[in-house]
Amino acid sequence: MDEATRRRVIAAVAQAMFDHVEELTALDQAIGDGDHGLNMKRGFEAVMADIDTHAAKPLPEALSGIGMALVMKVGGASGPLYGTLLMTLGKQLPAEPTRAELVSAFGAAIEAVKARGKSDFGQKTMLDVLGPVHAALRDGGDLDTTADKAADATVPLKAIRGRASFLGDRSIGHMDPGARSSALMIHAITNVLETPA
Ligand code: ADP
Ligand code: MG
Repeated sequence: MDEATRRRVIAAVAQAMFDHVEELTALDQAIGDGDHGLNMKRGFEAVMADIDTHAAKPLPEALSGIGMALVMKVGGASGPLYGTLLMTLGKQLPAEPTRAELVSAFGAAIEAVKARGKSDFGQKTMLDVLGPVHAALRDGGDLDTTADKAADATVPLKAIRGRASFLGDRSIGHMDPGARSSALMIHAITNVLETPA
């Protein structure tokens, strides 16, 4: 991946967060504290402020730097969790990964999020999108439809981790905000990688 592509991916993910602040806020108002939209906006504003630096670095260092910015700038649980995901990807990936290396690094990054969040699949979190997307990447499935279906599939789940878990059964019937932001990031990334510059 060259510098121009890294720049397009970073900008597309940030724009996706900026374009969906209200939607993510509304989802988090239903089962959390209503800050997920603003958390993601604040984090990616910080990333965009340094986009030249991030994009100029090789992929692993770029991912680590963006992950660190999210950890530092996002107040909510999602910052350290997305930060852990990206920093682990940065640690595991070579500069020009093969698909197999990407699958392996993504798997390790998901395990790192689980460890950091003391969480697992099926608990109505971002992991419920990241896990299925990882499987689709491994098995050659469509990442976009997988991400959307997986985010939809968090609706009937009862939250076991994060603020939404305080609601118990009342968390049922709403999409998890972090699942939605994960799906939005996947869409932004695939859109850039499938569209010629
Ligand atoms: P906060 O919950 O601190 O207000 P956000 O609103 O920004 O932070 O993010 C909430 C999202 O973070 C949830 O929708 C969920 O997807 C994710 N999340 C929260 N706690 C965990 C956890 N322990 N493991 C995995 N994901 C989590
Ligand atoms: Mg919140």
